[in-house]
Amino acid sequence: MRTAPSPIPPLAWAGLILGAGIASGLVGLFAGLSGALVVLALATLIVAILAWRSATRWLARRAALATPFPEAWRSVLRQWCDHYNRLPDELRSRFEDDVRILLAEKPITGVGVEVIDELRLLVAASAVTLSLGWPTYDWEQLNEILLYPDDFDRDYEFGEDDLSGEAHPWGTVILSVPALCQSFRDPDDAYHVGFHEFAHLLDLEQTHFDGIPLGFDDAAARRWVEIREREIPQMLRGESLLDEYGAHDPVEFLAVAVEAFFETALSMRRDHRELYELLAAYFQQDPAAWDDARGLTLKPRVRPLASRRAGRTGRRRPRSRLST
Ligand SMILES: [Zn+2]
Repeated sequence: MRTAPSPIPPLAWAGLILGAGIASGLVGLFAGLSGALVVLALATLIVAILAWRSATRWLARRAALATPFPEAWRSVLRQWCDHYNRLPDELRSRFEDDVRILLAEKPITGVGVEVIDELRLLVAASAVTLSLGWPTYDWEQLNEILLYPDDFDRDYEFGEDDLSGEAHPWGTVILSVPALCQSFRDPDDAYHVGFHEFAHLLDLEQTHFDGIPLGFDDAAARRWVEIREREIPQMLRGESLLDEYGAHDPVEFLAVAVEAFFETALSMRRDHRELYELLAAYFQQDPAAWDDARGLTLKPRVRPLASRRAGRTGRRRPRSRLST
């Protein structure tokens, strides 16, 4: 069971209070007692606001985790979420807690869609699949999720075969409900609009996407770029597990690679081992090992990749608007 940690750890609180005291003292040296009192009052106000926000969040998390995970929600995850089913028991418990925390903290709004519990769970499961290996991760850059009743175009007209999802740099993720349901319904085709759009947010530094996962050190970033440059020609020839959609833009390469990592873990490990290992280390998750443990095996290839993928041409792909 995950606890409900304070979003601001005690050490940070000590630093804030100490900083406020030092700032007041320094101002007092140069501007006298009244100046020091003004600075102290301002610092106290800021610390009080932060403390209030932190306490509110802590209480919301504690309330979200106060009761056992609803059995009806567990049934939905068992029925729809392949990643949940492959997890070892202790991680499945953390997955359930993370789902509840995300649902408690991130608003999900339907636009012409009734946001029923099943949909909320599919949204949360999409994000939590990516962040499960990071116990203190909070999706700080995610502000809200909008659910649309259908695919849409760039003017946000529904029913157009253009976009099935978007991730905006200000923290809004849009998901088409039919595309989201189809993503969970077919768990091993390397297509998942939820994984795709939330993966874009892992790449978001302030208002900028650059295609390098946040948190990579220089060596990992160099390795990532080398692998990407090697993979792209294969993707363009249709000889890769990774969808050709990701070959034209480094930002989309990351999102497509994340989709394939979680949806086709065994094939990724066999055919793209270096990329698989880099992503497994990054996500602190080993989905292929968990598929091994539940007895899944890969069939030998009987046809070239290009011909196996031929039937998928013309399939709708999720896209992301990067800077509007
Ligand atoms: Zn995208």
